[in-house]
Amino acid sequence: MAYDFDLFVIGAGSGGVRAARFAAGYGARVAVAESRYLGGTCVNVGCVPKKLLVYGAHYAEDFEQARGYGWSAGTSFDWATLIANKDREIQRLNGIYRKLLVDSGVTLLEGHARLCDAHSVEVDGQRFSAEHILIATGGWPAVPDIPGREHAITSNEAFYLPQRPNRVLVVGGGYIAVEFASIFHGVGARTSLLYRGDLFLRGFDGAIRAHLRDELTKKGLDLQFNADIARIDKQGDGSLLATLNDGRTLEADCIFYATGRRPMLDGLGLENAGVELDARGYIGVDELYRTSVPSILAIGDVIGRVQLTPVALAEGMAVARRLFKPEEYRPVDYRLIPTAVFSLPNIGTVGLTEEQARAEGHRVKVFESRFRPMKLTMTDSQERSLMKLVVDADSDRVLGCHMIGPDAGEILQGLAVALKAGATKQVFDETLGIHPTAAEEFVTMR
Ligand code: FAD
Ligand code: NDP
Repeated sequence: MAYDFDLFVIGAGSGGVRAARFAAGYGARVAVAESRYLGGTCVNVGCVPKKLLVYGAHYAEDFEQARGYGWSAGTSFDWATLIANKDREIQRLNGIYRKLLVDSGVTLLEGHARLCDAHSVEVDGQRFSAEHILIATGGWPAVPDIPGREHAITSNEAFYLPQRPNRVLVVGGGYIAVEFASIFHGVGARTSLLYRGDLFLRGFDGAIRAHLRDELTKKGLDLQFNADIARIDKQGDGSLLATLNDGRTLEADCIFYATGRRPMLDGLGLENAGVELDARGYIGVDELYRTSVPSILAIGDVIGRVQLTPVALAEGMAVARRLFKPEEYRPVDYRLIPTAVFSLPNIGTVGLTEEQARAEGHRVKVFESRFRPMKLTMTDSQERSLMKLVVDADSDRVLGCHMIGPDAGEILQGLAVALKAGATKQVFDETLGIHPTAAEEFVTMR
């Protein structure tokens, strides 16, 4: 049977664009449908604007620290300028994504896509057939169903707030909660972070989590653990009143939920094609990203494996190669995925935490370095960095590298290469440092 396209991609986000461009580059006839914004979550309401706001928020500390170096700088801040400039940059990136797709020969359909059957998709009333269909529709913020949840915002809205709220409650203890708590605190909002457990960033190394708690507390961010909101009420003056599970109340101008994300399946028509979900409610796929309908594939946040842009990119590339350039196909390696949390200070991590290494039965040697970054020694800042290596005592292999401090993400990327190559602690020890840097601590810990 002749299809309109070889590959029809639903969603022009990180994974979808990568798969579409590469497939077209391999000579396939490709269409991509996008209902909202080119570049998806990462470019529009995720990684990129978030990092720009983190840069913006850090200037408060930069100005303060500059005094120690003889500078006196004004510190007035205008939220509207930050958001307008961020919007301009995102528009520029949207244009780049459009050009990338068009220049690769991909047919771009701007509209909502719905599956009709195993080989066809409808976009705003127009039907297209394809040999393969790739679902890359990403995720969406999930807010618990409490009375007054309509008064709360999520990361989607936070990027477009017309003015900086004066008092913010951030709910959650994952990446988005600690990043946005740092952003709001940095730009001068009185910020509280409420997390339902004992300590945020579950799954990260215990020493890193405790260090971030201590650093954020030193900066004046109000951290409330074992705390959760039971209901939200809007008051006569427009402010919000949060009633906590323990009966306490907190007032705020903005309540921001960062309590995880759900797969974006709205109006997707999975039932028309018989695509099944897994036990967690994400699209179920096998190791080749095939759903329960073999002609329909799925990648990225919608399959809920690892919700990071580089993972969606790798999955998109793997699908394009397997279908249209099989001689270059390599499965995605989910081991040793490096990641950063852009809290202030940043966290960077790759490999096993100390807790994971012990749980896996390794005999573990731990090396730690805690220090005040050199740049801060001439300032009033008491911020300290932490670097940690988790080593298998029997093989000497480095199992995990963890850091909290300025540029942690930048520093960890190179170490991820070392771990991928199987570096031992001896290799770290034999590597000469770059002096004077913070990064050299990773090769001088004894
Ligand atoms: P997405 O990028 O979400 O793309 C899905 C696209 O599909 C969207 O454009 C959507 O509009 C479209 N779509 C959905 N349904 C339909 C339909 N029916 N028809 C047509 N189009 C449809 N990751 C990092 O690695 N580093 C970070 O620093 C980072 N920061 C983040 C910060 C925030 C606030 C958030 C929310 C996420 C962050 N992430 C980060 C995660 C990262 O953004 C995602 O993992 C990544 O975008 C997933 O890519 P994807 O292709 O699966 O989906
Ligand atoms: P996460 O899954 O990272 O964290 C969700 C947090 O919300 C957890 O602390 C969780 O607590 C808490 N939570 C979940 N449900 C409830 C509830 N009903 N009531 C109260 N608290 C709740 O999700 P995020 O939203 O922070 O981010 C989504 C994903 O996006 C991340 O996992 C990450 O993959 C990606 N991302 C990556 C970034 C980066 O690379 N820098 C930045 C931002 C996002 P508990 O731990 O107890 O379950």
